[in-house]
Amino acid sequence: MKNFVIAIDGPAGAGKSTVAKIVAEKLGFLYIDTGAMYRALTLKAMKKNIDFGNKEELIKMAENTELKLYQDAKYRVIMDGEDVSEEIRKEEVSRNTHYVASIFEIREILWKMQRKFRENSNIVMEGRDIGSKVFPDAQLKIYLDASVEERAKRRYLQLKEKGEIADIEEIKKEVIERDKKDRNRKIAPLVKLPDAVYLDTTNLTIQEVVEKIINLYHQKLNSSG
Ligand code: C5P
Repeated sequence: MKNFVIAIDGPAGAGKSTVAKIVAEKLGFLYIDTGAMYRALTLKAMKKNIDFGNKEELIKMAENTELKLYQDAKYRVIMDGEDVSEEIRKEEVSRNTHYVASIFEIREILWKMQRKFRENSNIVMEGRDIGSKVFPDAQLKIYLDASVEERAKRRYLQLKEKGEIADIEEIKKEVIERDKKDRNRKIAPLVKLPDAVYLDTTNLTIQEVVEKIINLYHQKLNSSG
C-alpha cells in the first residue's frame, strides 16, 4: 500500500496549519505546508523585482530555485540556502501569491516536489489543491472551513501575538479577496471535492478538530483492513 496521505485543503485562515501540524505530530507523520512554497517563490520574485506579469521570467526563476522544508524544533523554509520562514508570512507576500499560483508551469514544478515527500513518509499535507491535484488518491481528504468573520479574527489574533499592528476589517477584506482568487482561478482552484470530509471549524476548538481528523484516520485504517 502507498504511504498514507491526509490532504487538508481549505480557504485562508481556516486553521489548516495549526491543525495539520498537531495531527502530524500525534501520528508521527511528516507535515508539509504547500502554501509556504508558493509564498517563497513570491518572495523571491519580489526581491528580484521580477514583474508579476512576466510569466517566462517567473517560470525561469522557479526552475532555478532550491526549496527545502525542514522540520526540527521548528518548521522552517529554506530557499536557496536562506531561512525565509518569517519573511514569507508578510501581508505583502500573501497579497501577491496569486500571481505564481496561477501559472501552470510553476504549479507543475511544485507538484513534483510535493509528491516526492510521500515516497518515504506518511504525510499530512495542507494547501488548496492537495486532494484535487497533488494526491487525488489521498487516503483521507479534509476540507477545512470557517466563517469569514472567524477566519479574519484568527488571523488578527495571530498578527497581534507577533506584535504586528493589524486592522480586523482590513484583514477581512484581504481574506475575502484572496479566497475569491483561489476559488476562481482556472488552474487548480480551491474546490470542495465530493470525496472530502467537510469540517466547519467556526465553533470548534483546535483540539476538537484534531480529534475529528484523527478519528477519521483510524476509521479509514480500519475500513481498509
Ligand atoms: O496556505 P497559505 O495561505 O499560506 O497559502 C498562500 C497562497 O498560496 C494561497 O492564497 C494560494 O494562492 C497559494 N496556494 C496555492 N496552492 C496551494 C497552497 C497555497 O495556490 N496548495
